[in-house]
Amino acid sequence: MKVEIISCLQDNYSYLIIDENENVACVVDPSEAHPISNFIDKKKIKLKYILNTHHHYDHIGGNQELKKRYNCEIVGFKGDKHRIPGIDIMVDDNQLWEANNFKSKIIHIPGHTSGHICFYFFNEKIIFTGDTLFSLGCGRIFEGTYNQMFNSLNKFKKFPEETKIYCGHEYTLKNSEFCLKYDPNNLKLKNKIKEIKSKLSNNLPTLPSTIKDELECNVFLKVKDLENFSKLRDLKDNF
Ligand code: ZN
Ligand code: FE
Repeated sequence: MKVEIISCLQDNYSYLIIDENENVACVVDPSEAHPISNFIDKKKIKLKYILNTHHHYDHIGGNQELKKRYNCEIVGFKGDKHRIPGIDIMVDDNQLWEANNFKSKIIHIPGHTSGHICFYFFNEKIIFTGDTLFSLGCGRIFEGTYNQMFNSLNKFKKFPEETKIYCGHEYTLKNSEFCLKYDPNNLKLKNKIKEIKSKLSNNLPTLPSTIKDELECNVFLKVKDLENFSKLRDLKDNF
């Protein structure tokens, strides 16, 4: 399996998970159809599935057009079946989703939205975290509670450290400034910021990150309790 990062809209990322033996792919959170179809048409890859982490427009915007064009099937959270356009396959918390050679565990991580899920490809040790866990940050709480978001983020602490994280937006640099402000003596964070800046100056995505990096550098994972998490989340909203 190979992951291809596709830039969409202003600062969104969609991801193609490509099975290079079979020449088939899934796309995670297609914000828009064109960048995806350009890529797969050029490479002659067959798009089989769309995987949606949540229902926000910048994550499902390409659903209908891609479905119409490639006759692919759309996978989304059961509880969001009425707001994920074109949904075909409904999945639930802790469920295994398997198709072709794709194998992913579904984990419900509410907070940003009530129906937010992530896709954990455990054989490859890669995880698609949508707008819940960002590199050096976390999503805004729109539909859930602080407690839900805190619990959802804590779920990521149990993954193998080398797990690669692919999230929904290129927010890493801005997030890093916030982390540095509240964790100013963190040398690992300072080193990561150097890497981030060098990637961005070469026009490269700062992703994937890893669970290890996030545990060491992301203040929203380092924070010890709900009270302090809530304070930090509020501060970030006005940062
Ligand atoms: Zn969102
Ligand atoms: Fe988003």
